[in-house]
Amino acid sequence: MNNENKSIHEFDFNLICEYFSNVERQGPGSPEITIKVLSFIDNLTSESRIADIGCGTGGQTMVLAQHTSGEITAIDIFPKFIEQFNINATQLGFNNRVKGIVGSMDNLHFKDEELDLIWSEGAIYNVGFEQGINQWHKLLKKGGYLAVTEASWFTDERPTEINDFWNDAYPEIDTIPNKVAQMQKAGYIPVATFILPENCWTEHFYMPQASAQEIFLKKHAGNKTAEDFIANQRHEMKLYNKYKAYYGYVFYIGKKI
Ligand code: SAH
Repeated sequence: MNNENKSIHEFDFNLICEYFSNVERQGPGSPEITIKVLSFIDNLTSESRIADIGCGTGGQTMVLAQHTSGEITAIDIFPKFIEQFNINATQLGFNNRVKGIVGSMDNLHFKDEELDLIWSEGAIYNVGFEQGINQWHKLLKKGGYLAVTEASWFTDERPTEINDFWNDAYPEIDTIPNKVAQMQKAGYIPVATFILPENCWTEHFYMPQASAQEIFLKKHAGNKTAEDFIANQRHEMKLYNKYKAYYGYVFYIGKKI
């Protein structure tokens, strides 16, 4: 591809998309956890309307599709992810009821009270947890569910290095009780909250990236942007291994009152 006429921003964007299109998931999670979360959700039928926001290439969406019978609309801002998503849905035979659409989570096309379930793994931080849960609330039917993962602190205090890293990356990271209070304030009954187990980060997120990184670095040898990007990914992984007692992803499941 000729990148001469592209802005550096666009080039970064394409590189990041290319890298993450080659792994099963773009955030921590696992099929077992998706299934576990569904066990808390009691309103689903074949008539249900489900949205998966920030779906990526659909790792979790396909598991949702296997374990529900309603219609799933999945939204992501990156067209390349949606392209891969729709290929995956077709290959698994879900294309009649699972659709990937390019769109932004801060401007969703759903009607008020249209949805039975809003799902979002590792993505709500893009609009911010509090803004996301408040904006999406109106899209849910009464009695509908919200199930989202969000980076959260496990303790009130933590080492400076990891505190500074997150305050720079996502200052809205907060403790679990504070996130639950935000949910309650936004009009959801907090149904369940649990910390994603470590294998959601290691086995399902970081391990598949190891070989993807080798391939990516070979392909883009000498490209400083690509090398910096991978160095960044590796740094994040090291921080996770060092400080996983202090933070992680938490699943927050709420029911609209
Ligand atoms: N749910 C997937 C992907 C998580 S990564 C998984 O768990 O594997 C976060 C995703 O949010 C990326 O796919 C990114 O493209 C998407 N995203 C970022 N900003 C967005 C926005 N404004 N609207 C919709 N999707 C967005």
